[in-house]
Amino acid sequence: MRRPKSKEFRKQQRLSEEEEIKLLDSWIQSQKPNSGSNPMSLPPLPKDAPVGRIDDTTFSRYAGVNRFSHLPLSKKTIDGLRDAKFVAMTDIQRASLPHALCGRDVLGAAKTGSGKTLAFIIPVLEKLHRERWGPEDGVGSIIISPTRELAGQLFDVLKAVGKYHGFSAGLLIGGRKDVNMEKERVNELNILICTPGRLLQHMDETPNFDCSQMQVLVLDEADRILDSGFKKDLNAIISQLPKRRQTFLFSATQTKSIQDLARLSLKDPEYLSVHEESVTATPTLLKQIVMIVPLDQKLDMLWSFIKTHLQSKTLVFLSSCKQVKFVFEAFKKLHPGIPLKCLHGRMKQERRMAIYSEFCEKRSVLFSTDVAARGLDFNKAVDWVVQVDCPENVASYIHRVGRTARYKSVGKSVLFLLPSEVEMLERLKAAKVPVHLTKPRKELLQPVSGLLASLLIKYPDLQPRAQRAFVTYLRSIHIQKDKEIFDVLKLPIDEYSASLGLPMTPKVRFLNQKIKSKAVSTTSVLAEPEDSNKENDFVVSTNKLDTIALKDEETDDDLLRAADTSNEGDVKSSEITEIMPATRLLKKKKLKINVHRPLGTRVVFDDEGNTLPPLARIADTHGGKESLLLDPEQKAEYYKRMRADLKKADKEDKLVERKRLREKRMKQKMKLKAGNAEEEDSEVDNSGSEGDEAVDRRHKKSKIYFDSDSDGGERNEVTGRGANISADSITLEEQEALALKLLNSMHS
Ligand code: ADP
Ligand code: MG
Repeated sequence: MRRPKSKEFRKQQRLSEEEEIKLLDSWIQSQKPNSGSNPMSLPPLPKDAPVGRIDDTTFSRYAGVNRFSHLPLSKKTIDGLRDAKFVAMTDIQRASLPHALCGRDVLGAAKTGSGKTLAFIIPVLEKLHRERWGPEDGVGSIIISPTRELAGQLFDVLKAVGKYHGFSAGLLIGGRKDVNMEKERVNELNILICTPGRLLQHMDETPNFDCSQMQVLVLDEADRILDSGFKKDLNAIISQLPKRRQTFLFSATQTKSIQDLARLSLKDPEYLSVHEESVTATPTLLKQIVMIVPLDQKLDMLWSFIKTHLQSKTLVFLSSCKQVKFVFEAFKKLHPGIPLKCLHGRMKQERRMAIYSEFCEKRSVLFSTDVAARGLDFNKAVDWVVQVDCPENVASYIHRVGRTARYKSVGKSVLFLLPSEVEMLERLKAAKVPVHLTKPRKELLQPVSGLLASLLIKYPDLQPRAQRAFVTYLRSIHIQKDKEIFDVLKLPIDEYSASLGLPMTPKVRFLNQKIKSKAVSTTSVLAEPEDSNKENDFVVSTNKLDTIALKDEETDDDLLRAADTSNEGDVKSSEITEIMPATRLLKKKKLKINVHRPLGTRVVFDDEGNTLPPLARIADTHGGKESLLLDPEQKAEYYKRMRADLKKADKEDKLVERKRLREKRMKQKMKLKAGNAEEEDSEVDNSGSEGDEAVDRRHKKSKIYFDSDSDGGERNEVTGRGANISADSITLEEQEALALKLLNSMHS
């Protein structure tokens, strides 16, 4: 009984839908806004004015109205909007929707957080609805986003507003494992929300992938999608799309490039820039601060910021994945008192999405690359956007700060500028970005560099991370296009390296070359590094030029010269050791150590500022990984273990010895000194965790070299077994030598 009823109902619904579509078509056609006009200039409909069909041939005006319900929209869309609590339109929606609904191409520009998403989602739904798009029609609209997170967010908005429509929609983004499942389903989808790469992958790989009937193409963050990073992909995509289509381009920093528009073959697009007349290019409720922060104080400043804003939801931008990883990992270990998260392009997709949603929900600090700079609307508002590294241009600045103060909420941002980057202030001013230059309050600064230095020793895997962060930061500055702002040669490189907690400044080839040429002619403007070196510029290579050198404070200008010309006379070949065993990039790089480094200087070795002691150097010639022993804490830890091991070994040795002596005594009645040894037996600390096997191994390695005392250079050869070595009585140097030897055996 129910079946025929529902069939009847469906038929009726279809009929009324068809009637509705007819009505909408007539309404839209009869009240089209003039091409080139901005509907915003028209007044809203008077209160209680009739909406829709007024009589047989007249319809209400829809250009300039300020409520969604006054637009010629399907009931399904109106209901979806109402459920999502969208009632009044924002400026960009008022300006662009009337043009978009009547089929025109739209270039929409409006500040961040001003509601551009609905300005294209609604006309996509409406177009397909009025075209009576069904499952068998395939792909009707493609919406392209520069990032996966943004694509996901657009998908959510589409699902919410389009929930009463019957369209199938798909989220096609990179990093998802189910590409094969996608391939099977993609031709059944009506609306695709995708990143350029994944869309192209489907175009290339999915059999029968058909978008020849596609009606509407949308580029969200259009200027980004059209920039060089996506150029190739986008051109390939465009070449497969039908020319007859409607196209929407939206961004807070819209492209006006004729070439871009030609590439997209837009037809007389409506350019709607609703905030062009605005005094500011950024949201009015956004308070923006700039602070001049020397490079080596950036992390101190960031740390201090976090510690003083524990109740805020903060988004921190850094310029590379590697910096994000390092700062996140290091700060996490220092427990600032607020959850920390990180987001970057090298993360697994599931993780990325999870982090993104967690950050939406919870108060925390999110360290991110520009992957989070565009479009994202973290639904529980972000309080602060902190730009630790200067953005590449004003557009990037605008998008980053645009993650806060969205829609009608307030927000704050702070940009750290290096003294050498102050030109950025002029750029911001010229682009109508109102920033307040503020001096950091020194008394609130909580230095973190010292803590980082200790951390790097405590957690050896952090050191290569710090190195990579260092190199990629320099790289990011080096490759910046705007050379008036970004000059890698103006950076205090050693101080920066030290501020990351690195014990020595990694050398970077291009810098080396630049500095050399600077030394030849300090006045001349430096040329860009030759192309031939481009690829290797940032590889700390194994040759001499790129040794990682520890340098004197006074010779700062020379710091990045060839290592063999610095610290001459101080460094013997035996002092060259390997560092960073865990770094792929830096594998087998050499380290020069200046043993006469002044105490208390910023390069941190141990608490006293000492380099490796002489014995360590001797041991180093065995080529081990012992340079990590620079930390006193870790050293102490090794020695403690060593002592325990030695005691254990001693105990066994002594047992053997006692037995032997007893036998000897019995046989030969010889008197041997065994008293001390026996006394010590009772003190043996058995808490050491090493098992018998380890002890045995050490017994086999019993031949140890060590200095007879710390001053004497003479080496004695002593056998560990049976000699009077007690862990308590051997000198520090001896312990070091033993420890290093032990480490050698452990690493080999
Ligand atoms: P943009 O793309 O311009 O940066 P979004 O489309 O992401 O901005 O919208 C920013 C926020 O404003 C979102 O949280 C969205 O839900 C909200 N929003 C958009 N349009 C409206 C509206 N008409 N009424 C209320 N909230 C809106
Ligand atoms: Mg947006």
